[in-house]
Amino acid sequence: MIVAIDGPAGAGKSTVARRLAERLGYRYLDTGAMYRALTWLAMTRDIDLSAGEKLGALAEENPITLDEGRVWIDDTDVTAAIRKSRIDRVVPVVARHPEVRAIMRTRQRELADVGDAVIEGRDIGTVVCPGADVKIYLNAERQTRAERLNAERQTRAERRLAERPEIGADALATDLRIRDQSDAERMMPAADAVQIDTTELDVEDVVSRIEQLVRERQPA
Ligand code: C5P
Repeated sequence: MIVAIDGPAGAGKSTVARRLAERLGYRYLDTGAMYRALTWLAMTRDIDLSAGEKLGALAEENPITLDEGRVWIDDTDVTAAIRKSRIDRVVPVVARHPEVRAIMRTRQRELADVGDAVIEGRDIGTVVCPGADVKIYLNAERQTRAERLNAERQTRAERRLAERPEIGADALATDLRIRDQSDAERMMPAADAVQIDTTELDVEDVVSRIEQLVRERQPA
């Protein structure tokens, strides 16, 4: 079973996908972390972020490992580094190159092919796994999304999965608006996705609703 969870930043994808994967005993795959890791490497190596071919080659030569919540690229644990605001701002610039997306798509499909996974991203139900068994598109009002991202940053820092936030809630809300615009072309729900507005819902309700859909479609 493949469960695709798409939607904009702060809609609740990571929390919901992780919880759902735990409940179902499935693997959890965070495709945003893959784009973030590649962006980190490109910035570290001072690669021109408008050079799609170079970035595609970089992605090809440097597979990303997602392991127990940690993210590795080029033999480096980048789990905390990829959550910095400077990465948030630049990921869409790297992610928009077709050369980069082609490599990511191939890797993500290989990971999906192992089976039983909850995969979160922007284009999972539309491009990466159009045949996913369950497709969910999560959304929420932007103000709520900004507040959630802010809270998530604090939690990550406490769990030592990120450094202390470098920018305040207002700057983060502005960054989110700009990132929404950059990601807009990839933020289309699949025609057969179940759309859930999470603005007023709590995590457990959303997870239970999706779990129900998965159980209904699981082979007997
Ligand atoms: O999910 P997260 O917010 O960590 O994703 C970071 C960025 O990676 C997004 O803003 C988007 O530019 C890019 N992304 C993408 N396709 C995906 C997942 C993430 O383009 N499947």
